[in-house]
Amino acid sequence: MEILILIAVLAVLVIGGAVYVVRRPRGTDLEPPPPVAGPSVPGTTPVDDELAADVEEALGAVRDESARGADTATAPPPAEVIEPVRRPRFRDRLAKARGTLGGYLGSIRSRRVDDQTWDELEEALIRADVGVAATGQSLDELRATADAESISDPEVLLDRLKSQLKERLAGGDRALTLQLAPGAPDVWLFVGVNGVGKTTTIGKVARRQALDGYTVIMAAGDTFRAAAAEQLDTWAQRTGSDMVRGNEGGDPSAVVFDAVQRAAARGYELVLADTAGRLHTKTNLMEELRKVRRVADRDPGNVTEVLLVLDATTGQNGLAQAQQFTEAVDVTGVVLTKLDGSAKGGIALAIETSLGIPIKLVGLGETVDDLVEFDPDEFVEALFA
Ligand code: GDP
Repeated sequence: MEILILIAVLAVLVIGGAVYVVRRPRGTDLEPPPPVAGPSVPGTTPVDDELAADVEEALGAVRDESARGADTATAPPPAEVIEPVRRPRFRDRLAKARGTLGGYLGSIRSRRVDDQTWDELEEALIRADVGVAATGQSLDELRATADAESISDPEVLLDRLKSQLKERLAGGDRALTLQLAPGAPDVWLFVGVNGVGKTTTIGKVARRQALDGYTVIMAAGDTFRAAAAEQLDTWAQRTGSDMVRGNEGGDPSAVVFDAVQRAAARGYELVLADTAGRLHTKTNLMEELRKVRRVADRDPGNVTEVLLVLDATTGQNGLAQAQQFTEAVDVTGVVLTKLDGSAKGGIALAIETSLGIPIKLVGLGETVDDLVEFDPDEFVEALFA
């Protein structure tokens, strides 16, 4: 049907064009073509009227064609089509992490539960970076269950382990807080060392919030790297967000302050603030972050999330850094990035067990839609699939 309509429209344009070329007065080559359809208006020439009539007639034929096929044709798409967000699945992105466990699980599944099963399970979890403490706790619990239920089938044992890990991760409050008080923009601060994915995550979060209908402004609070502001600017443009940046080497608190003021003045709901992550001057960095937080929280600003961004590929090393950040600023949640490229997916369990901070978001790739809420059940299933 669409092809018929297309042919008819092309025919109209060709007929209209031919008629116009034949009938146009001399010396009008540079004038714009007359309107394709619509009633003639007073003051137009008879030639224009005739052309409009011809085109109107041809359009009538097209409309008749459409009307005949109306019962089978699908409705035209709305003028503005908002692309649905393609949500990446843990199962598709955790191949590397799964690879670490795969060999051990294959061996465990090949025979009934014995002493070697426990050794292999321990090694598998440690290698996946679940961490010594969390591994010990999990296996003690699993042994108790295996004894109580006299489990000898490896599949049953692995099922129990999965349930236990899911339970360990259940219950964390993973919702991102937005208070949306009138005139008091919510501020979400992103902290973490350089290279973990703060800027990229801000871009991804801006996209999510914009799709949910919120107005966003970014604050380029990493004034020590000119590239960071450039990068954030690109994300702001891509996601339709506003942005405030300062002078290179300037006071990050001032940038965040300006962003909050502009948000309040223009009625934006959310400020996403980037911060510096240089490690070599650690003490200063932590002091600076405390100051940024205080300033951001000053009226009219309202800090409702401090998100610690951690790189899953750094495994246990990231945990030590995390400790320092949580001591400096009151971290409300973790964003675990690069889980797609990490062979150490178990770090998610270590983070929640040793830091006691909920993982709220997970980065599963580099594109703007590769950020998902952390779903413990999906995560554990993907690790053991
Ligand atoms: P920042 O220094 O903390 O702001 O880190 P950036 O946002 O500049 O990110 C550093 C690198 O990590 C960039 O190449 C990003 O594309 C990449 N990156 C960030 N998040 C992810 C993720 O979830 N998956 C993958 N594979 N790469 C990521």
